[in-house]
Amino acid sequence: MQTPSHFLLTAVLARKAPSLTQTGSKISLLAGSILPDLPLVLLTLGYELYYRWFAVSPTSGSVMEYLHFDLFFTDPVWIISHNFFHSLVINFVLLTIGYWGMRREQRWARLLFWLTVGTLFHSVIDILTHNSDGPLLFFPLNWRYRFPSPVSYWEAAYYGREFRIFEYAVDALIIIYLITVWRKQIRQNAAVRS
Ligand SMILES: [Zn+2]
Repeated sequence: MQTPSHFLLTAVLARKAPSLTQTGSKISLLAGSILPDLPLVLLTLGYELYYRWFAVSPTSGSVMEYLHFDLFFTDPVWIISHNFFHSLVINFVLLTIGYWGMRREQRWARLLFWLTVGTLFHSVIDILTHNSDGPLLFFPLNWRYRFPSPVSYWEAAYYGREFRIFEYAVDALIIIYLITVWRKQIRQNAAVRS
């Protein structure tokens, strides 16, 4: 799924989670929803600018395709950066550390726990919506296995076109929902003050 959709779905989750009363936890959860994709965004921007202004393009075709269909699968820097927070293994280790520290009432642990709930939710959605380029599930123990989901959020051969329409529709509904809730809250706060 696209990064903004991850954020929107997690924003709904954040509203529905009853134990999320502290602002820090909520911010951590929302940060976790986009964190797994940030390295890829930064690498793509950096390499695009580098090949545009400072170096000769390594391919006669599109640089973007070279980055996302070549380096993405073969370059260790790209593999590590993209899969670190997408990996189930790393997410479960971080979640366990966070849970362990939370039981001892450590503030850092509560933030880590909710951050990892966000990254794990992101990762599970990605696993179900990628066919050829999904996350490396067991990274760093295994650098090859990706679950080939029958649905891809972008590959036409795996309902990519249909899924894109579905994804945009869900995004639109969530935005309407969040705006409605937000306006209701503003009205309630104004009523309390008056
Ligand atoms: Zn992702």
